[in-house]
Amino acid sequence: MKTPILLAITASLLITTSVSAQRRSAQKAAPRPKAAIETPLTQLPEYSLSRADMEAHLRFLASDELMGRRTGDAGNRVAARYIAEEFRRLGLKPAGDSNSYFQPINFERVKAAESATLSMGSEMLQLGKDLVVMAGGPLNQTGEVVYVGYGLTDGEDGYKGRDVKGKILIAQGGSPDAKGPREVFQASNAKRKLATEKGAAALIELYAESIPWGFINQYFSREQIALPTTDTNTQPVTHLWVNNTGNKYKQLKEPGQTITLRTSGRLRSVAPSANIAGIIEGTDPTLKNEYVVLSAHYDHIGVGKQGGSPYQPSDSIFNGARDNAFGIVSILSAAKALVQKPPKRSVLVLAFTGEEVGLLGSKYYADHPLVPLKQTIIDLDTDGAGYNDTTIISVIGLERTGARAEIEAGAKAFGLGVFAEPAPEQGLFDRSDNVSFAAKGVPAPDISPGFKDFDAAIQKYYHQAIDNPDSIDFGYLERFAKAYANIARGVANRATRPQWAAGDKYEAAGKALYGN
Ligand SMILES: [Zn+2]
Repeated sequence: MKTPILLAITASLLITTSVSAQRRSAQKAAPRPKAAIETPLTQLPEYSLSRADMEAHLRFLASDELMGRRTGDAGNRVAARYIAEEFRRLGLKPAGDSNSYFQPINFERVKAAESATLSMGSEMLQLGKDLVVMAGGPLNQTGEVVYVGYGLTDGEDGYKGRDVKGKILIAQGGSPDAKGPREVFQASNAKRKLATEKGAAALIELYAESIPWGFINQYFSREQIALPTTDTNTQPVTHLWVNNTGNKYKQLKEPGQTITLRTSGRLRSVAPSANIAGIIEGTDPTLKNEYVVLSAHYDHIGVGKQGGSPYQPSDSIFNGARDNAFGIVSILSAAKALVQKPPKRSVLVLAFTGEEVGLLGSKYYADHPLVPLKQTIIDLDTDGAGYNDTTIISVIGLERTGARAEIEAGAKAFGLGVFAEPAPEQGLFDRSDNVSFAAKGVPAPDISPGFKDFDAAIQKYYHQAIDNPDSIDFGYLERFAKAYANIARGVANRATRPQWAAGDKYEAAGKALYGN
């Protein structure tokens, strides 16, 4: 899961909930689905999954040797290979590219700019304090700037049809209808694209938006990992933001302003990584053509400065035991149990990369599905920032995604309660990998280790270097993973496919996808 202020830019969040929800769900707990009653729990493979296996997986994935599994780094690729070979050992069918377990993604690594200055008259604006470099190559140019309004159109309120080849452009930050940080960034990307197409030398946006400059500077003075752009051959225009708080550089909009812009630009390179995919074929001649996805991300935030959180020189590795080796252990455990006794529907097990850098692995998957989304009836994503209550599991989207009965039954089977829909005002559903499926119409709850509040107990480990294997309650991991496996079985055996709650934000997308 991602850090708050950078959510707007890339990501994900966390939650709290009310006790009454728990009491309400306990009272309303639906009777156990018929299938489960038929096969006594103790005879189901998930009942005898081994804690030692789980501990071994977690201790390897969250070991110092994997250096925090940052997307595109060696430790990330070692984790990918480990998961793929575990799929092979368990007997999952390869579901990746060219009959492998891998869905390769060549991310783009964009290094932070090393230098940038903008001089006009006697003033010199400095990198960090006054400037950030968003994208583009090195530049050293003196020239008269051209003001292009918001720089979003070629019309009267933008480029006015002018030839700006080789020119330094000045644009107003944001856009006429940008409400939040997400729109500001979307508009900025659109401006960059247009300025690149027009062959400009540089684009400078005058920034004075809602996110404090400190965070903007912190974010852009770090290396970024991005999804591969379509034409990696085209070098984007050199693109900067100027800290225009209080409109202090409004003179840049006036005609006849000459400036000198010098910058190292941001070097780009390929950062190879992959999603991992394996299939367990269902037993029912009809239902086996429908797929239940079990997903979890395996990447984490890396080492030292990469992590974006404070760390001690003595321990700069962000091991990510809770986030999200815990989830990977859960999907591996479920895969092991379901291979031994396959359910009626088929199961696609997906380990995503790129979650910590913007849900990029799951977004890529949703745009390049390995099984038609129309045949994908649900995504049971599991991700978490930690737990502060080992008597429950916490489920984001429980009431919305149509599998409440199976989720409650599976949790109850291993002595766990279900804590539902924490802090709706936080919009957490839209900030984990599950949302990549939801946006396409596939019901997708996020099944998370138990927490009630994002309190000190959670913050102690969340994206911290001490989130390492020795601090894990392996007894709870065992119960959680077994419950997750049983939930997966219940959903894969149910008679009908889960439906979005009536009126849900994603119900229309569901209707469009499934046709009803
Ligand atoms: Zn996570």
